[in-house]
Amino acid sequence: MMVLTKKMIEIRSILQTVGQSSALTLPSIVVIGSQSSGKSSVLEAIVGHEFLPKGSNMVTRRPIELTLVNTPDAQAEYGEFPALGLGKITDFSSIQRTLTELNLAVPDSECVTDDPIQLTISSPHVPDLTLIDLPGYIQVVGHDQPSELKQKISDLCDKYIQPPNVILAISAADVDLANSTALRASRRVDPRGERTIGVVTKMDLVDAPRGASILNDKKYPLRLGYVGVVSRVPPQTTGLFKKGSGSISAAISKNENAFFSAHPIEYGPEAGLSVGTTTLRKKLMHVLEQTMAASLQSTSDAIKQELEEATYEFKVQYNDRPLSAESYLAESLDAFKHSFKEFTEHFGRPQVREMLKEELAQRVLDLLAARYWNKPVPDLSPAPPEPDSLADLPNADPESLYWHRKLDASTSALTKLGVGRVATSVVANAIQAHIDRLIAQSTFASHPFARQAITEAASGILNERYYSTSDQVENCIKPYKFEIDMEDGEWSKGRENVAGVLKNELQACEAAVKNVEDTVGGRRKLRDVMTFVDRARKGDVVVEGDGASGAGGFSSALLQKGREAVFLRDRASILRMRLAALKSKQCASMKNKYYCPEIFLDVVATKLTSTAVLFLNVELLSEFNYNFPRELDIRLGRGLGKDEVERFAREDPKIKAHLEVIRRKELLELVLSKMDGLRALEVEGKSRRPSP
Ligand code: GDP
Repeated sequence: MMVLTKKMIEIRSILQTVGQSSALTLPSIVVIGSQSSGKSSVLEAIVGHEFLPKGSNMVTRRPIELTLVNTPDAQAEYGEFPALGLGKITDFSSIQRTLTELNLAVPDSECVTDDPIQLTISSPHVPDLTLIDLPGYIQVVGHDQPSELKQKISDLCDKYIQPPNVILAISAADVDLANSTALRASRRVDPRGERTIGVVTKMDLVDAPRGASILNDKKYPLRLGYVGVVSRVPPQTTGLFKKGSGSISAAISKNENAFFSAHPIEYGPEAGLSVGTTTLRKKLMHVLEQTMAASLQSTSDAIKQELEEATYEFKVQYNDRPLSAESYLAESLDAFKHSFKEFTEHFGRPQVREMLKEELAQRVLDLLAARYWNKPVPDLSPAPPEPDSLADLPNADPESLYWHRKLDASTSALTKLGVGRVATSVVANAIQAHIDRLIAQSTFASHPFARQAITEAASGILNERYYSTSDQVENCIKPYKFEIDMEDGEWSKGRENVAGVLKNELQACEAAVKNVEDTVGGRRKLRDVMTFVDRARKGDVVVEGDGASGAGGFSSALLQKGREAVFLRDRASILRMRLAALKSKQCASMKNKYYCPEIFLDVVATKLTSTAVLFLNVELLSEFNYNFPRELDIRLGRGLGKDEVERFAREDPKIKAHLEVIRRKELLELVLSKMDGLRALEVEGKSRRPSP
């Protein structure tokens, strides 16, 4: 029973997933022959299908590692290219096209390469075999081919015909065997003819006595013998058996049988010669099985060696620490959720309030700048003000409708600026930024896939809650759009608070001036250009156009900086004045609110903030904190398939290497145990077989 080859083919496919190592290659049958010797025809006769590339332009440029898998219980016949992941291909003409493409992908300038194409053909009609088809030997190099091609092909073949491989040396009957390149190559590496099978094709092209004498060759005797075949598809059947589609076995063997039985004296049983494709197939199976058996021990030793290396690496590099893609993901996810939980404990109402208050304080500053701190109203103070008095609000008359309207309009601009959206955006953006930070600090940082999944989980929830939250907040602050009630306590708190805001702003202004000073190269230079800008503003000097090309001996860039500094200086001086005003007695009382719009608007901002925070907390924050970990579970936990988990873990090169060692170790252990089983089987088989 030929079980060994089958098992070894299984083992080989496992070993291939471990990673090719030359020590681990199992014996194969290597097919060599000159171009047109009939090599392809023999292989196709064995498989029963036309599937090899055809054509005159050196169509076999890469070794084809052909694995035949006998599937006795199946109907279907199909091929697979494991490296391409194209799935099962049942149409053999499609396999032929793919092989042609893969071969022709090797550029003409190179012509041959030793990078093999792997092809597995499964069928109930093929034997279990591993065959390697190589580019045919050529006699002369074509004018468009590299001159060293002959040598390259020969070297490539030499590489494959080494032990323990079996050599299938193809020669055509109509060419003198002494001239057979295949046999000559084989003789070089297998001088005693121990592992070479001679195949003589085109037996139909020589008369029977000559054919018989060829098969009886004594010049290069082979232990495994010569087999004569007629493996061409008979011409009259090619129409019937459409090229590349149906099985050609029946046609070939009918033709071949007819030929050989027509010469019973030379090829009949009495003659004791090996002829026919069927005989060849059986011989191949038998020889391969025996070669496999003979190499069991050495293969097993090689695997043991590899396993020892993997075990050692696992111990030294990874301290024998077990790891699986699943456990890695689960641990990473737990750690991330833990860090998120910690974050939620430090990101609650007080933090949201703080952020919102800051944002609204900025809006208040903008409003004040636009409505109060800009140029004084002409009809209230007709004389052009000196820079220092700019900041002094023209004495606000509490009875004047003008000042009433001004404060009302400012308040309304504040309450109607879209607090709902502003507040929701501020908080949502902050959450998203925090999540990004948590990702960056987690093991997920080196996993693009997970990073994206987490970011999307967060933005998904935030986007979903965005509109309803901002609507809710907007609704709840609605009353403030109509009326603002204020108490003395609130006023004095606001007074204190806004002074802080202005102080910060003043510091920021001063720092910005300093910054401009540094960029232009010194205080003096800046002062000169500022003086020029001031004079130009008063009309003392004339600047052509907008000074885009410079003026007063200053470059346009310097002038720009000068204007910026003048603006900042004016802003700073206003802020100082207003700070003084806030400290003054007038601002102590709410009665003077028209004189102290800063305080009034600050109190409004605080009211808006408190109300917004309540709803943001419920509608956005709590919802997020509840849903986010669940969403993570869906996207990174149970929602992921096995392959995805594996792909995820392997994104990290360190983890990938760790997992690989473990897998390698496990697979090698598995292979080794299978090998041990096979060896036990062999020993048992031998003891039962009668000794010769
Ligand atoms: P390769 O180049 O070695 O793969 O050779 P092919 O298998 O393509 O065969 C070369 C040519 O020889 C083709 O035209 C085949 O039809 C023909 N041929 C192959 N085997 C036989 C055979 O047994 N008898 C005859 N008469 N022709 C054959």
